[in-house]
Amino acid sequence: MTQLKCSATTCHNNKNHLCILNSIHVDGSTAHESEQTCCGSFTPKLSSMDNSAHGIDVRPETKIKCHAKDCVYNKDMLCSADSVQIAGHGADRSGDTECSTFRMR
Ligand code: SF4
Repeated sequence: MTQLKCSATTCHNNKNHLCILNSIHVDGSTAHESEQTCCGSFTPKLSSMDNSAHGIDVRPETKIKCHAKDCVYNKDMLCSADSVQIAGHGADRSGDTECSTFRMR
């Protein structure tokens, strides 16, 4: 599995720049650059008091299903990179995030 780091701290699933989900999906079936990808699993926090990840033991290993088929790390719609960085500081919606690790074939 991939070591996932994520800067979208406005996401319900983000805890200390890690993701509490065991599996996420990245969108961007026609992407030719990072900006054209996004984390399809992004879920905005319900409120500033949303602290649902509190107490969850979160690990960096995350399975990434990925639609960005032109990325060098995409193997049969799964990410094969050892580590991935999702960017999305201050994101309000999925489209505000991107996979910074995307690299065109
Ligand atoms: S590195 Fe490539 S294959 Fe892996 S999640 Fe990002 S865009 Fe998808």
